Amino acid sequence: MREEKISELRQEPCTKRWVIISPQRARRPKELEEKEEKVELPEWDRECPFCPGNEDKTPPEVFLISGQRGWTVRVVPNKFPALSSHITHIEVIGIDPFVSVPGGGKHEVVIESPLHNVTWGNIELGQMEMVVSCFLQRYRALREDERLKYICIFRNHGERAGTSLIHPHSQIIATPIVPEQIRTEVEEARRYYDDRLRCVYCDVVKSELRAKERTVLESKHFIAFTPFASRVPFEIWIVPKIHRPSFDLIGEGEAKDLAQLINELFGALYRGLNDPHYNVLFHSAPLRDSCEDYYHWHIEVLPRTTIPAGFELGTGIYINTTLPEDAARFLRQYLKD
Ligand SMILES: [Zn+2]
Ligand SMILES: [Zn+2]
Repeated sequence: MREEKISELRQEPCTKRWVIISPQRARRPKELEEKEEKVELPEWDRECPFCPGNEDKTPPEVFLISGQRGWTVRVVPNKFPALSSHITHIEVIGIDPFVSVPGGGKHEVVIESPLHNVTWGNIELGQMEMVVSCFLQRYRALREDERLKYICIFRNHGERAGTSLIHPHSQIIATPIVPEQIRTEVEEARRYYDDRLRCVYCDVVKSELRAKERTVLESKHFIAFTPFASRVPFEIWIVPKIHRPSFDLIGEGEAKDLAQLINELFGALYRGLNDPHYNVLFHSAPLRDSCEDYYHWHIEVLPRTTIPAGFELGTGIYINTTLPEDAARFLRQYLKD
């Protein structure tokens, strides 16, 4: 008879989201390693709209960091934006119970390097510092727009994460509403704070630092760990040790520290899981929302090694086949000393 491991329901303390950790269904980390061979990519691709020399294939840049030879980081409006920057007046126009507002907002693309074949897994530290600095500057500029209620920075890496463009890039979408998922996080954080007068994220950081079993990497200002109730194998959260509600409030030293941590962490993912497809999601407080005592900005990394299926879509409960503790232990082996 096959030995059956017992599965476990775990609840994420920050969101109250449940997951089923079911390691008997697991492909162990070792088997995840043996993925398809990756093709060697060129440094420059004539057909790529983000490669140097093809600047006319994108709208004119809204922001640029220049280097010795041309630009180093370039931000352009998305050619096919999800939300339009031309809509100036935003009000609810739906008729009850159907709510609707005009699709005004911002949608920008951060072209992270002139090199076509770089990823966060092998990017140079100096370049990553400029990417983080660029995120900060765009965030600070966009938040000045009174119409906007939320700024989402995200990165889709690989087809399974929703991108077909290879050239290293992230996106920023600023919305005229607060996304429901963020609203839920803020509400849960407020409930926790009401009961204890403490921030739930600060409490999680403290216990993860103490236990260390889910810690992948720690720097002066940040911790990267696989959450207790990880939704997918190798889910990672990067959480600042200093309580701040919003990403744009970090100082220069913290920004550099974050770039270094990203560099090391994504290097380990790249080496350990053979450059997996993933989404990176910045979670930051809604703009002009007074949740500074209890909301705590952070970054969530969701590798796309599995596809959410019916049960996940029907219940919001993910079935994760890799123990978060095993995932952290596995990734730690691939950090450079
Ligand atoms: Zn390119
Ligand atoms: Zn906190």
